[in-house]
Amino acid sequence: MRKNRSRGSDAEKGVLPQFREMCAKAGIRATHQRLEVLREIVCATDHPTVDDVYRRVRKRVPSISLDTVYRTLATFEKHDVVRRLQVLEDPVRYDGRGTRHHHLVCTRCGCITDLEWPAFDGVGLPRAAARWGTVKTKQVQLEGLCAKCLQAERAKGRA
Ligand SMILES: [Zn+2]
Ligand SMILES: [Zn+2]
Repeated sequence: MRKNRSRGSDAEKGVLPQFREMCAKAGIRATHQRLEVLREIVCATDHPTVDDVYRRVRKRVPSISLDTVYRTLATFEKHDVVRRLQVLEDPVRYDGRGTRHHHLVCTRCGCITDLEWPAFDGVGLPRAAARWGTVKTKQVQLEGLCAKCLQAERAKGRA
């Protein structure tokens, strides 16, 4: 089960130094609860909601509250450690992956899959963007049907 949504130990290795650095910069205490929230979000590949993170962390840290998870994720977001995604009409989801990537969003089941797109990343911005102001991030969200939903759709069509 865990394997499906876990990035495994590679992602986990960088967590502690990143965590200490962020806490020092933010002027907050490097508590065990905050570390566990970060560990969960960095290793997750399914872009979990606050609720998801809370349920998972609670298994290891039963004393943690939903409110703490909310506030911790908001702090991480403020310091660019996690990214907040608002897709479809879903609740806010969080992304702890540090490297540049884009997203494939299934409008049927709501799954969010990471997509690397170096060719897109390499394309310069249109002049209108420079006239508009300063662009800080360039990230796209592609929407459609995932393979699983597409298959279900086709099966329905054949029936
Ligand atoms: Zn789907
Ligand atoms: Zn992502």
